[in-house]
Amino acid sequence: RRIILSGIQPTGTFTLGNYLGAVKNWRQLQKEYDCYYFVADLHALTVYHEPAMRRKASRAAFALLLACGLDPEESLVFIQSHVSAHAQMGWMLSCLSPFGDLSRMTQFKDKSAKHPEDINAGLFTYPALMAGDILLYQADYVPVGADQTQHLEFTRNVAARFNHVYGETFRLPEGYFPKAGARVMSLAEPTAKMSKSDENAKATIFILDDEKTILKKFKSAVTDSDAEVAFREGKDGINNLMTIYSAITGKSYDAITAEFAGKGYGDFKTAVGTVVADELRPIRERYAELLTDKAYLDAEIARGAERAAHIAEKTLAKAKRKMGLC
Ligand code: ATP
Ligand code: MG
Repeated sequence: RRIILSGIQPTGTFTLGNYLGAVKNWRQLQKEYDCYYFVADLHALTVYHEPAMRRKASRAAFALLLACGLDPEESLVFIQSHVSAHAQMGWMLSCLSPFGDLSRMTQFKDKSAKHPEDINAGLFTYPALMAGDILLYQADYVPVGADQTQHLEFTRNVAARFNHVYGETFRLPEGYFPKAGARVMSLAEPTAKMSKSDENAKATIFILDDEKTILKKFKSAVTDSDAEVAFREGKDGINNLMTIYSAITGKSYDAITAEFAGKGYGDFKTAVGTVVADELRPIRERYAELLTDKAYLDAEIARGAERAAHIAEKTLAKAKRKMGLC
């Protein structure tokens, strides 16, 4: 079977964007592929978090992945830093990463412009670590959002360079763009993507929000003044709500427009809030259940790390041999 690999940073409770754009699709891929999904805690180190919070957030992210339906019997779910091969491979690949290429990464440019007081080397070499994450498992496909395509291209380039310099070692991964993958925008500022680390709580639906909170947030979502539920340019707020409604119900934009013809935005917002709440309710319940079973969670985290390390170590040993390290 073909191999799929993807990760998510433990930088907060997952958003509706993370769910509809990534994790829901990951769940659907489990049947068809050998899937590896990880909590990217080494990547999250590029931003300071209090250590106790960090530890808690990684566990929470692991539990959220299971709550979203990733089945540890079917997929390999693990925490990145528990598999030491990632950091090692990241270093080896950073030595094949041209400074110029790293400098051109838009994520680096954006994040360093946003926090000029805190630009660390990890933020800069992030793509080399990400390349290691992917190449260690010889992934065929990497489901990533549009914000990550540049990093994936970088990964392919580094893999090709390694293969050229040291001999055939890595499979070149391809992006995987699921048909149903939705890009969800901020409810407060619908031209910006919804993001875990957004400070404005009104902008973001978190997957653990209860129904009341969800309905309230949708009620205050930014829209426009034409009172027409239609998908077209310039209607960013309504387009976003239609994207969300369509991603969950499977209805086409035309069908949604017909459904809400002659009704106000209030009705539409309530409808969107209701389907979102229904979709997220079982996840919230499953998450609460998982947190009560500390032993199960600990055991799955340890088992995931052990299984992942077994695979990653093989590729790492091969790469080290080729480089003359052992
Ligand atoms: P952060 O603000 O900490 O970067 P994030 O919300 O961007 O958090 P990531 O952990 O960086 O989340 O990304 C996890 C996955 O979710 C990636 O595959 C990314 O492409 C996807 N993703 C993130 N935000 C959205 C969004 N608004 N819509 C669709 N997919 C998204
Ligand atoms: Mg992100």
